[in-house]
Amino acid sequence: MPNDLSSIIGIKGCRFVSWEEVMTAKGRRYSLFILEYDGEYQSVCPVCGKKMYKHGKRHVLINDTPMNGMPHVLDIYFYRMRCSACGEMWSPKLQDIDENRRITQRALVDITDKCLRNTFEDVSKDYLITGETASNIFGDFLDENADKLRFKTPMFLGIDEIKIKRLGEVTVITDLEHRTLFDILPKRNQTALAEYFSNLPDRETVKWVCTDMYRPFERPIASSLPNAQWAIDHFHLVGYANMALDSVRKTIQDSLTKRERIKTKKGLAYTLKKRLSTLDSDEAEKIAIIRSKPKMAPMAVAFDLKEAFFNIYDENPASVDNAKRAFDEWELSIPADAIYEPFRTLARTVHNFYAQIFNYWRCPIAVSNGFTECMNRIIRENNCRGRGYSFKILRGRSLYRKTNIANALMGGQIIGPALTESETPFHFDSTKDEDDDFIEIDGELINESTGEVIQLPMAEEFNQ
Ligand SMILES: [Zn+2]
Repeated sequence: MPNDLSSIIGIKGCRFVSWEEVMTAKGRRYSLFILEYDGEYQSVCPVCGKKMYKHGKRHVLINDTPMNGMPHVLDIYFYRMRCSACGEMWSPKLQDIDENRRITQRALVDITDKCLRNTFEDVSKDYLITGETASNIFGDFLDENADKLRFKTPMFLGIDEIKIKRLGEVTVITDLEHRTLFDILPKRNQTALAEYFSNLPDRETVKWVCTDMYRPFERPIASSLPNAQWAIDHFHLVGYANMALDSVRKTIQDSLTKRERIKTKKGLAYTLKKRLSTLDSDEAEKIAIIRSKPKMAPMAVAFDLKEAFFNIYDENPASVDNAKRAFDEWELSIPADAIYEPFRTLARTVHNFYAQIFNYWRCPIAVSNGFTECMNRIIRENNCRGRGYSFKILRGRSLYRKTNIANALMGGQIIGPALTESETPFHFDSTKDEDDDFIEIDGELINESTGEVIQLPMAEEFNQ
């Protein structure tokens, strides 16, 4: 046996005694290392200076990182020392161990790292701990490292809001330039946002804020971010054109007889939402047929209105004046029939947020807030797998994911002690990044390995 076993047994200052494979009461096998403390013992009483004597042998069980795929436990024996004069007791201080949690430091790092990717239940299986303990370890880690884990205030900020089961609404803030998640707030309201932004360090750095159309954003942005301009992201706006189209389609389909409905329903919602340029010949024919039948023709008209609305952005990327003209023409082209009311509602929305919507053309990076949406999906997915985290855990897991930290490091956006990718508290090298496992197809997030579709709620209707 080599003298220095610390790399194998996880701690320094102990002698290896024996090894055995043991079974818990619940039938779980684990590997048990018996060790004996062989460091210094206190021979002089720290209180009165008299001699100390050995006073009974003790032992302590410590969780260490798994070995050969099994939980690994250290059983460490040591003597306590007692002062014969004053009764003072002394026990050796074991290195590399979190004494409160009875776990080695390297196991804490390993648990924390795994908690960023897996459910707490899964993480706990590698150890003789419960999922709740894993969750607590991760929560403590977040608290202890709060200083190291700060991001620089972005110049281009995205704000979005999502509903999360059991947690309610949360506000997601992204750095659009560096494509990172910047923060998550537990609430969505004007007061909470105003407070958050007024306490943001270097808040004058923020030049642009990209959001959905949500009025309560207006005041916090204006009052707390002195240099920021507000732009409505086109991603959100064109989404509402698709919703207006859907609404027309449903009205028509509800009015059809059962037989007519069977003929039209299949794949129609999907086809109508596709862009004109991406239709295949079958799909183009499907729309042509609809157009030829008076009862169904409004769906084709709605398709055209949706297309024309998308084209306000697509055909006028460089000129805000042309875009404004295109919008005017679009608004005038909406037929007067009642069925097209959803498109008139959309036009009114554009008027309500006119300045912010056309600010989009002035935003220098004009980066889509679709990135924020993507973040939202990750957070939701994260939440699904975790079966309802606390807010703190959800925030930590989403904010300190591998890719987020890596992107922030790359952009020089991390404040605090210098971190490198290989340095604790973050190990980036062990497993495949979770982001790689998901691909987005037509707004749905699909798990690449299982083909499972992650169900996402529809975008919430904004208030008029
Ligand atoms: Zn003493």
